[in-house]
Amino acid sequence: MTHIITSLCLRDSGCVDVCPVECIVPGMPQEKYPLYYIDPDTCIDCGACVPECPYEAIFSEDDVPEPFVAAGGEIVAKPEGTAGYDKEYTGENQHGVEVKLSNTKVLEADDEVDFDDEVKANYEFFEDGPGYWEGWEDHAN
Ligand code: SF4
Ligand code: SF4
Repeated sequence: MTHIITSLCLRDSGCVDVCPVECIVPGMPQEKYPLYYIDPDTCIDCGACVPECPYEAIFSEDDVPEPFVAAGGEIVAKPEGTAGYDKEYTGENQHGVEVKLSNTKVLEADDEVDFDDEVKANYEFFEDGPGYWEGWEDHAN
């Protein structure tokens, strides 16, 4: 079991600071992996990251909403090329570093989002993707 970061993640990085086993890694390249990702082999399911996320993006794998139903105003980030996700988001992470995401969408009340792709992408990031890429700790701070 692991925790999963869903596409409500806006790379704010707060979860990285509290993870006791340092298994939360920023996605890279951002166009393909726009979120942060949790190493399922290392995560101990402690739940410490969940309350740190200002966007409530993190769930225990068993509790990932199917589907997520929006209250309205949430921003969702997807990989480049995802139809309907063409709005740029600019913000700052918890360390004051600029965050830019090119493929986002602002949800309206009752919009539904399927997070299956994020569950798959989380595993793929560590199995076939960059995983713990060089310099990831600095990038998260
Ligand atoms: S705290 Fe939330 S928004 Fe920030 S990186 Fe973690 S999951 Fe993403
Ligand atoms: S549940 Fe605990 S171990 Fe897993 S990613 Fe979150 S903080 Fe780290």
